[in-house]
Amino acid sequence: MHLELRKIFQFEAAHLLPLLPENHKCRRLHGHSFQVEVVVAGKCDPKLGWVMDYADISAAFKPLWERLDHYYLNEIPGLENPTSENVAAWIWQQLKPKLPLLSEIVVAETCTARCVYRGK
Ligand SMILES: [Zn+2]
Repeated sequence: MHLELRKIFQFEAAHLLPLLPENHKCRRLHGHSFQVEVVVAGKCDPKLGWVMDYADISAAFKPLWERLDHYYLNEIPGLENPTSENVAAWIWQQLKPKLPLLSEIVVAETCTARCVYRGK
């Protein structure tokens, strides 16, 4: 059996998108309750009956959460232009070495808009 696990995290952060025109609303400093979905995919261990421990996903994400939650994203190296797309790719780059089964990062800035990154 090949399965997928999805674990959702949330963080609050401020950002602005500096490359947009002056009059674009996203150019102004504002905040979001970001939601991040970390997805891993792999074979189900026949003995344990799981792909991996959800707690290990949480442990891998925790250092990133500590760098993101209640911060101004533009000040984080690599996130000078913190679009959802760039945040997703940044999280992927940090997480993939620690979570080899990582298959997808989903970043949602709002309830109705989300961005999916699968590593390429
Ligand atoms: Zn925004």
